[in-house]
Amino acid sequence: MSLQLDPLPLLSPALVRASTAAPARVRLGRTAPALLAYVFLPLAVFAALSFVSTGLALALAAGLALGHTLDLLFGRFYSDSELRGPLHRCDGCRSPLRAAFAMPLVGFLWWRGRCPDCGSRLPLRALVLPAGACGLFGISYVVFDQAGAALLGGLFATVFLALTLTDLERRLLPNRIIYPAILLAAALSWGWPETPAVAVLLGGGVAVALAGAILLFSLPFGPGAFGMGDVKMIVLIGFVVGFPAVVTGLLAGTIAAGVVAGFLLLTGLRGSRDYIPHGPFLALGAVIALFLR
Ligand SMILES: [Zn+2]
Repeated sequence: MSLQLDPLPLLSPALVRASTAAPARVRLGRTAPALLAYVFLPLAVFAALSFVSTGLALALAAGLALGHTLDLLFGRFYSDSELRGPLHRCDGCRSPLRAAFAMPLVGFLWWRGRCPDCGSRLPLRALVLPAGACGLFGISYVVFDQAGAALLGGLFATVFLALTLTDLERRLLPNRIIYPAILLAAALSWGWPETPAVAVLLGGGVAVALAGAILLFSLPFGPGAFGMGDVKMIVLIGFVVGFPAVVTGLLAGTIAAGVVAGFLLLTGLRGSRDYIPHGPFLALGAVIALFLR
């Protein structure tokens, strides 16, 4: 008969305390520099540009901060992942976040796009999301020429950029982005300079009707011909851009999708049974409608 001993009762209480306290200290040791790194880049951008234009500097810094934040939290948007727990940069080894990666852009360049712990390639999203959000907030400032509206436009353009990336990375338009974004868009419907709140809410209503109609027409083609994620995204576009811009946006997105799909099919890069995501094209149409309405 073999006797198995649980090793833990053999350890002295002091040893047990030390072994459980150590990781907490390590984590705290990484938190302070990471927090500093996290706020440094947006603050630096604001400080450097505020002499040129305070509004533009604010928009660019806000875009960078939002892009960074969304990139850091990116894994949390998928409903199969836990909301809590330490952040990690690399899906390969899930090692805790290093301070440099609190600024995804800087971390990515510093480690030349590879995970310093396991060497696997990091997603390009760490560059695309912060830089893209910064650019979209900048465009928004130029288009709306007013700090409040610039932040509003930049915020939703960045949401569409994030949805493009989730659709490309995992073929998903996550509820954890779309539902809060719809609520936020409806709540902020009064904030657009040249579109009254009624027109924005009407856009949401029209989008619900359009999405329902598209879903009905796609039913004969089998489940998945038009995803529920796409339907919810159309509703989001309606509540962001309002009426009649929602029609322009959906039309622009559909034409872009048709042109690209036609090109891919004609050149043989994709077959008729291959998956071509709708999300990025809907997002493109939405951003066009957002800035040209
Ligand atoms: Zn790794």
